[in-house]
Amino acid sequence: MGALIYAKDWSQNAAGAIESWPQSLQTTLGIILHSRFPMFLWWGPQLISFYNDAYRASLGENGKHPKILGKPAKEAWPEIWDLIKPRIDQVLSGNGATWNEEMLVPIFRNGKIEDVYWTSSYSPVADETGEIAGVLVTCMEVTNSVSLKRSLAASENKFKNLVMYSPTAITILRGPELTIELANEKMLKTIWDKKEEDVIGKNLLDVFPELKKQELATLLNQVFKTGKAVKQYECVAEIKTAAGLKKIYLDFELNPLFENDGSISGIIFTAFDLSEKMRAKAKIEEAEERLRLAVEASEMAIWEIDLHTDGVKYSDRLLEIFGHKTPKKLTLREIRRQIYPSDRNGTVKKAFADALQTGYYRYEARIVKPDKTIVRVRTRGKLFYDENGQPVKIIGTLRDVTEDEKTQQALERSERRLRKLILNAPVAIGILNGPDYVVEIMNELALKLMGKTREQMMNKPVLDVITELDPQSTKSLLDNVYNTGKPFSASEFPVTLNRYGKMESVYINFEYLPLMNSQEKVYGIMVVGIDITEQVLARRKVEESEARFRLLANSMPQFVWSADGNGNVNYFNQAFFDYTGFTNEQILNGGWIEMVHPDDRNENLKKWKESTDAGKDYIFEQRFRRYDGTYRWQLSRAVPFTDDTGNIQQWIGTSTDIQNIKEQEEQKDIFISIASHELKTPLTSLKGYVQILQSMYEKSEDAVLVNSLNRMDRQIAKLTALISDLLDVSKIKTGSLTFHKEEFEMNSLIKELVEEMEMIHPDHKIFFENDAKFFVYADKDRIGQVLINLINNAIKYSPGKGSILIKSTTDQNNLMVSVKDEGIGIDKDYQEKIFERFYRVEGKSEKTFPGFGIGLFIASEIIKRHSGNIGVSSNRGKGSRFYFSLPLHEKAD
Ligand code: ADP
Repeated sequence: MGALIYAKDWSQNAAGAIESWPQSLQTTLGIILHSRFPMFLWWGPQLISFYNDAYRASLGENGKHPKILGKPAKEAWPEIWDLIKPRIDQVLSGNGATWNEEMLVPIFRNGKIEDVYWTSSYSPVADETGEIAGVLVTCMEVTNSVSLKRSLAASENKFKNLVMYSPTAITILRGPELTIELANEKMLKTIWDKKEEDVIGKNLLDVFPELKKQELATLLNQVFKTGKAVKQYECVAEIKTAAGLKKIYLDFELNPLFENDGSISGIIFTAFDLSEKMRAKAKIEEAEERLRLAVEASEMAIWEIDLHTDGVKYSDRLLEIFGHKTPKKLTLREIRRQIYPSDRNGTVKKAFADALQTGYYRYEARIVKPDKTIVRVRTRGKLFYDENGQPVKIIGTLRDVTEDEKTQQALERSERRLRKLILNAPVAIGILNGPDYVVEIMNELALKLMGKTREQMMNKPVLDVITELDPQSTKSLLDNVYNTGKPFSASEFPVTLNRYGKMESVYINFEYLPLMNSQEKVYGIMVVGIDITEQVLARRKVEESEARFRLLANSMPQFVWSADGNGNVNYFNQAFFDYTGFTNEQILNGGWIEMVHPDDRNENLKKWKESTDAGKDYIFEQRFRRYDGTYRWQLSRAVPFTDDTGNIQQWIGTSTDIQNIKEQEEQKDIFISIASHELKTPLTSLKGYVQILQSMYEKSEDAVLVNSLNRMDRQIAKLTALISDLLDVSKIKTGSLTFHKEEFEMNSLIKELVEEMEMIHPDHKIFFENDAKFFVYADKDRIGQVLINLINNAIKYSPGKGSILIKSTTDQNNLMVSVKDEGIGIDKDYQEKIFERFYRVEGKSEKTFPGFGIGLFIASEIIKRHSGNIGVSSNRGKGSRFYFSLPLHEKAD
């Protein structure tokens, strides 16, 4: 007994020798083992499981539950524990046996959970003491009968559903009155358009009185009378619906229903609604028409070959393609003979052999038309077979593809051209094919830009080669273009590339352009790129240097400003803003003029316009208003910067605060003016005393005394001249230098002065020859002062070199006087400045010449106040020529 052996196994493992088992258990097991009913027992507090042979059938194919024997029930039946536990509990708690009919207990068997149905009873088993110690289960598996019952019910349902929901409309009519007993969905909804409750139990012709006069009513009557079935195809019946009279197309059958005694009790009326079919038919016709049109449009010829008879049928288009007029009868032989011989024996022959194998006939071949022109045709055909599998005919199409060929060639040509274009393009271009971006074309520039060899790149997915690019972001950029068809571009894109083994950081401008096929589908990406590293770096350098300049300019205590080529001021440095308290907006559009002292504004604008018009340096002293409203003197200068063609690009200006200098100058002027005034009186009396002494000792023998007095007189004269000069300077400064103008003749004045000067300076020869008479209206003494000054300088600055040449000339309106020496000359740089107050040329040689630098200043003031001009032309080391001009005075006579 198998179960006992299991039990023994269990006893050895778990509970000791059988002899030691309680009697009650032994007795119960005895019953179980001999029973033909499947039984099992749960025993003891742990509900250890035992079962008999009869039960084994329910344990699956190998008759053994993998873990049930000798195991506690909970472990043995985990999958159904929740289901059986309440029943076990009921038994153990003394509430009697349970009875379960057709209970679904899914159990683990045959290696899986199976739905098993049981009819079972759970009954208590008592031990020696009368206490309930186990649960005996007697059970019968009823899975099969349950499923049988179910499938029966299902099949019944199925039949019912079949009738009720069949796509065929069905109704059962009973008795000669044709009472509607049953009508299915299809009948109700699509044919009758009625609700069930409106028709069931009613007579057909009462519900549809309109049928009375129709053929259907006659047929129904006929079937009822004769008992012969009737079939009708594509009939029309007319039924009244809510929407009016409706035409219904039907295939229908009327079958009599017989009673057991052979009498006719009713009719089954089945109908197939053709409306759908009619619509479908129309659709097919439409589709055929469309196909026909498509074939016509594609200029395709259609042909058919009977393989038994070699008979051939073809559309007119075939004749046209073969170069014949329609209609014409051609045999298959004639048609074949028009195929170009080498094609006929090559391609076409092979295509036919293939067709016998595959069922598909296809080739391209050349056709020779009767006029000897050659066209290219493409044929597609399909074999049809008889019931024995023997090929009987081929039906196919034929198309003239000569033009296709040409366009194909043109396409290839244009592609070749494109390739050439790309390869020679002045920018880097690559074409990446497909969603893996396989490199199809790449020009030299692109290879150089990426730093890769052609072998590395060609025909490989680009991201597999340029691994140094961030694979994710690059791929997502490419993917985006590929998927959306929208181009992408980036400029100054920084990347680090492995260029021939060297990592290099570069900037590139690039574009991803989607390549579309004729269906507007993206098939690749064209990458266009330019390496702009140099430009970027150069620009950065410029930007950096500009930034440096700005920083420098802003940290300068001077005002620095710039203007464009037209003179529009476009930049002021920080010092300017700090000083004026202006904002950037305030200075825009010429707003800066507000800071200039009202008295200086016009002159400022005038000078600035002069400079910008002429492209000449701008120098101007003016007062600028500080943020607190006080004005300070500034020396403004600006110089133009020109481009290669000489056009002014910009002006750079500076303004330096000269307030302190101005103030010092003023103090100096005041001092000079006071000092010279104060010195003038004692000097005049000194001069008087010396002259008295000189006349007293004129005839004295004391040579030293006489000589000393003479020297004193000369020095006093020099001092007097100097002080008179200083007084003149003060007067000029205060505007109190006055002139006593009169008419006089210039050449006589010059002669007079030359004679005087020659006496004082016997070492120098002064030449002047002009007998013409040039009249001017001027202050004779002051003009004399100018002449003396020029002659004195000529003598002073040409030591040892004798000759001084004086000339006077006139033009229509002016008189011009020049004084030329052969002395040390003046550097170009100083020629304008020597006319400024206290300006002396600071050279080695000049140091040896005494002076204050005011003579020329006074001279130029005098000449300007007479509406004349003064100037110099000179070369260093080669002497100077000073000149001045005055307006000629028309003589009255
Ligand atoms: P001063 O002669 O007293 O220095 P001026 O005003 O007369 O002052 O002249 C200004 C400067 O011009 C001189 O210091 C000198 O350098 C220069 N200068 C004037 N005349 C001549 C000349 N004939 N030759 C060379 N240098 C001259």
